Amino acid sequence: MSKRDYYEVLGVEKGADQKEIKKAYRRLAQKFHPDRNPDDKTSAEKFREVSEAYEVLSDGEKRAAYDQFGHAGVDGQGGGGFGGAGAGAGDFSDIFGDVFGDIFGGGGGRRRGPNAPARGSDLRYNLELDLENAVAGTTVDIRVPRHIECDRCDGGGAEPGSSKETCPTCHGHGQVRMQQGFFAVQQTCPTCHGSGQHIKVPCHKCNGEGRVRETRTLSVKIPPGVDTGDRIRLNGEGESGVNGGPPGDLYVQVAIKPHHIFQRDGKHLQCEVPINFVDAALGGELEVPTLDGRVKLKIPPETQTGKLFRLRGKGVKPVRGGMPGDLLCKVVVETPSSLTTSSATYCASSRRASTTATATTTRRRKPASSTA
Ligand SMILES: [Zn+2]
Ligand SMILES: [Zn+2]
Repeated sequence: MSKRDYYEVLGVEKGADQKEIKKAYRRLAQKFHPDRNPDDKTSAEKFREVSEAYEVLSDGEKRAAYDQFGHAGVDGQGGGGFGGAGAGAGDFSDIFGDVFGDIFGGGGGRRRGPNAPARGSDLRYNLELDLENAVAGTTVDIRVPRHIECDRCDGGGAEPGSSKETCPTCHGHGQVRMQQGFFAVQQTCPTCHGSGQHIKVPCHKCNGEGRVRETRTLSVKIPPGVDTGDRIRLNGEGESGVNGGPPGDLYVQVAIKPHHIFQRDGKHLQCEVPINFVDAALGGELEVPTLDGRVKLKIPPETQTGKLFRLRGKGVKPVRGGMPGDLLCKVVVETPSSLTTSSATYCASSRRASTTATATTTRRRKPASSTA
């Protein structure tokens, strides 16, 4: 295929100066720009041709080579630069950046039409659960406000029986041309906001929006073992899509309320159990609360405050499967209040000592429970 003469492509004389070349390119590039002629192969080809001609004729060296040897003088030079409309768009925005930057999305950026289907937004619902419910699993009803497609107009926004008509302002193009000084500028049509269609009688239910706000009650199944930070996804329960696009999802974000007895650490639970002075000194049996009732725990003589007892399997069965965690019981020795002054002093100091011991024990315990 033989190439057209670059001067002919731009429609300028052989001796044209840079100003004339630039002016000609500006005019033609506007006319054939792909953003303005979507899906038009002829325009795309013309745009490419115009960009290529400008690339050569605007460059003194390339132009001289072209003048002397024709296409053979410049072919192969900067080959990548003539890759197609996309490459040309770069030059285009360099020149027209100020005026057209916002219209063409900053130089060849792909814009989505206002009538293109768009997925609805995702929604998030913060759910607080009791520890018991989180461990055992439950079903909760939640009320979710969201936008859904209007069922009266099927999302179209037109009152049933009436039809949409072509926008009288833009004649269905969605864009209007405005003269702005030297340039003709295209803008989104202010009447139809780019849809190209005009709703004659807006739907009575949604006022032509196509979507209505609705509060729905959803039953959400909470699997056993969920913990703070877990998310439950409900497919398609988010906002409805626009122009026939799919709906978004609803994420239920779980947080566990503080419990009056147990502290949770992943799959393990911890609690404090008071024990009387005599049982601690002589050893005995202790009643320990667990999530499924009280269990008996044997403790050895001379048990000190802060001593931890592990009840295997009495923790939480993790939501993602695996063995249940443990319940760690921390013993707190209760000192009788009716003691002589000297023994009370003794007790106070021994308690202080054991408090220190508790702190040490806890610190030593930490890594073990976090890796479990
Ligand atoms: Zn409607
Ligand atoms: Zn319009």
